[in-house]
Amino acid sequence: MVDLLPDQTRRWQAVEAVARAHFLRSGVREIRTPLLEVTDLFARGIGEATDVVGKEMYSFMDRSERSCTLRPEGTASVVRAAVQHGLLSQGVQKLWYSGPMFRYERPQAGRQRQFHQIGVEFLGVSSARSDVEVIALAWDLLRELGVSGLELQINSLGTLEDRQNYRQQLVNWLEARFEWLDADSQQRLTTNPLRILDSKNQSTQTLLADAPAFLDALSEESSQRFDAVQGLLNQLEIPFQLNTRLVRGLDYYGHTAFEIISDQLGGQATVCGGGRYDGLVQQLGGPPSPAVGWALGMERLMLVLEASADSQESASRGMSEKAPDLYLVNRGEHAEAVALRLARKLRAAGVSVELDGSGAAFGKQFKRADRSGAAWALVIGEEEVESGQILLTPLLVKGEEHRVALDDPAQILALLRTAH
Ligand code: ATP
Ligand code: MG
Repeated sequence: MVDLLPDQTRRWQAVEAVARAHFLRSGVREIRTPLLEVTDLFARGIGEATDVVGKEMYSFMDRSERSCTLRPEGTASVVRAAVQHGLLSQGVQKLWYSGPMFRYERPQAGRQRQFHQIGVEFLGVSSARSDVEVIALAWDLLRELGVSGLELQINSLGTLEDRQNYRQQLVNWLEARFEWLDADSQQRLTTNPLRILDSKNQSTQTLLADAPAFLDALSEESSQRFDAVQGLLNQLEIPFQLNTRLVRGLDYYGHTAFEIISDQLGGQATVCGGGRYDGLVQQLGGPPSPAVGWALGMERLMLVLEASADSQESASRGMSEKAPDLYLVNRGEHAEAVALRLARKLRAAGVSVELDGSGAAFGKQFKRADRSGAAWALVIGEEEVESGQILLTPLLVKGEEHRVALDDPAQILALLRTAH
């Protein structure tokens, strides 16, 4: 679990602001759910046999002996909230969320135990077009952020029946090659064979190159649906690759599954992943409601943003530290109290004020004022307190100083707005 220091948070805030505006324009509304849920929600929602539920959850007993879990992902919570508050009877829900998620994983670059996601869920939509709208939301957001080197990979996991058919084909094929599989995959052959396709083991991946493909096992109807998705992506000129081994880590996906991969991230290459999960709402006690969504990893996004050169410009556009409007140089017991009071008044009026708190010599404070990038300095010493007159000095351009009355912030405001 890592700290985000001020240099990082301002870059995060800039990304979050772009995302928020993007969702606002797209009619997607924010939902906030608790970080803590009853364990059963994830066990039922994500699937007992997944890595997330099987070995990655932070679960503990609370003081009333209820098993609680720090959320490892957002979808189950969003669906729970929508069901609990009857949102689904109010028509289609287009929702987004962001915040920390917790998984007990081996930490490495792009993989943490507390990480952050931005996610989108569309509840109550079933068309191929809604799949594509949701994918486009992710694609366009990443484009707007200036991320380059991305690849969209898509697959169809079909219906439950398609998956059962395919599972059998895959199990038969893998059983004949059992001794070639890594130990983890050998175990999954009985618990969750489809997950073997997602194995990170190199020799297993090589073996799988010849395995039966999911797409060949799709029913006619599923396959037509998937064709429609591809057709619409083409119309929107969103490039994609078919990846017949893309299964996603959570059990609830069917039909369209997708990932957006970066060529900058090495092992942890998936920036965004999602897909359709038509069965989940009902499984969590709601009315039958088809749904589709995605989640994007903030840490990986920040890594890609740092890595991709042409993002630097867009990054610095929104992310450079804003210099204060005014630097308040102050020294002396009375002067310091007066300066704090004036800083509060000016801030309340919308001026950003850096109040020097060092009590150091004026010369030193002035050096800091220059470095701060502020447009103006205001000096308050004991003398100024006594005379009630202070000097407003331009720092960025050569210009005249202004003598203003200490007890007249309105005059200072007027000068800041006009003289530049
Ligand atoms: P992976 O295969 O990399 O473990 P996943 O399939 O477990 O990913 P999802 O549950 O789909 O990931 O989460 C969506 C996104 O959240 C991922 O694509 C990734 O960007 C991010 N993410 C997932 N787990 C972590 C983690 N432990 N640390 C940082 N980011 C993560
Ligand atoms: Mg994972």
